[in-house]
Amino acid sequence: MRIAALKERAPGENRVAITPETVKKFIALGATIAVEEGAGLAASVTDEAYREAGAEVVPAAKAVEGADIVLGVQAPDVMALAGAKPGAWVAATFDPFRNGETVEAYAKGGFEALAMEFMPRITRAQSMDVLSSQSNLAGYKAVLTAANTYGRAFPMMMTAAGTVQAAKVFVMGVGVAGLQAIATAKRLGAQVSATDVRSATKEQIQSLGAKPVFVEDVAGIEGEGSGGYATEMSEEYQKAQAELVSAHIAKQDIVITTALIPGRPAPKLISDAQIASMKPGSVIFDLAVAQGGNVAGSQPDQTVEKHGVKIVGYSNTAGHLAADASALFARNLYNFLSAFWDTESGRPVLDEEIGDAVRLTQGGKVVNERLAG
Ligand code: NAD
Repeated sequence: MRIAALKERAPGENRVAITPETVKKFIALGATIAVEEGAGLAASVTDEAYREAGAEVVPAAKAVEGADIVLGVQAPDVMALAGAKPGAWVAATFDPFRNGETVEAYAKGGFEALAMEFMPRITRAQSMDVLSSQSNLAGYKAVLTAANTYGRAFPMMMTAAGTVQAAKVFVMGVGVAGLQAIATAKRLGAQVSATDVRSATKEQIQSLGAKPVFVEDVAGIEGEGSGGYATEMSEEYQKAQAELVSAHIAKQDIVITTALIPGRPAPKLISDAQIASMKPGSVIFDLAVAQGGNVAGSQPDQTVEKHGVKIVGYSNTAGHLAADASALFARNLYNFLSAFWDTESGRPVLDEEIGDAVRLTQGGKVVNERLAG
């Protein structure tokens, strides 16, 4: 079983899909590991560290040659897989709803694409879930970036020269990233409030010591819904939410938006008029900017100033914490493949529940149910 990991080629992608820690673990399972030269440099992992862990460190084409499995953070271009075994697996993120062409190319190439973002939200797959591990770090980084952009302090400070007021932080969307954003803002001493469409998040917000702000008169999503994900809300709900947010947002210093709906553009949560109602110097961090954005006018990797409010957002937030993000991502991949390791055949054999959920292509065809419609 030969496993290869390539250097990421997407602009601004600093992460790497394998670390010396997971190299050792894969070798312990009986695999041979090949890593492309320089693959870990942007995540502070040297070629030497990979070699010490037991990996071959070689140019890309050599790494892929004869590979049974290729690991990536973002799926490599199918051209980069030339020389891999026929039917080789590629475990990476594919952004399958938006990258139909890549998925088709993998099918044509005869590769088995395993999309890590399609990992089912079930207890036994939690340790394999790259969306969770990366969102968690992203939620943290969003708050730090907003704090750094903000021209005032987060905690209340009583000084001889007078009192500095605590910042008011509002988190919109309380999934994995939002929960970490709340926790981080609390740790920095801000006054934190948060909202979501899923009523189950209300208690979670309170348990972190923040104030829930919820639409009360129109039903949101009760309980956890399908896999905990949100769906598009009714027009009536959207209107009620906009009114509630308008009243609240005008009093906030920092807003962190994290709202996503799988397979759809991010919901628009903050309009230009709402931005105008905020105090000059306020900061909005749009974590959904790469999926179309929650905030009117937000641009990936740019600071947009509107009505004296700075709007920020990264196209790849987790990539700004590349070392930790890579360590977690690599462990997710290892946890995934090792959970299915068949000692007799010396390779992973996926089951239906997880295998069918993540597999996009097989035997020259696109086989995933979620892509069928
Ligand atoms: P996500 O990234 O898909 O979305 C972020 C948040 O935005 C969600 O909480 C969503 O409800 C919210 N949102 C969507 N539309 C909104 C709107 N119009 N207004 C306000 N908020 C809106 O979500 P996520 O971080 O992936 O997590 C979703 C849920 O899945 C959480 O409850 C999480 O605990 C759960 N989860 C379970 C597992 C598992 O069991 N293996 C793994 C990861 C996450």
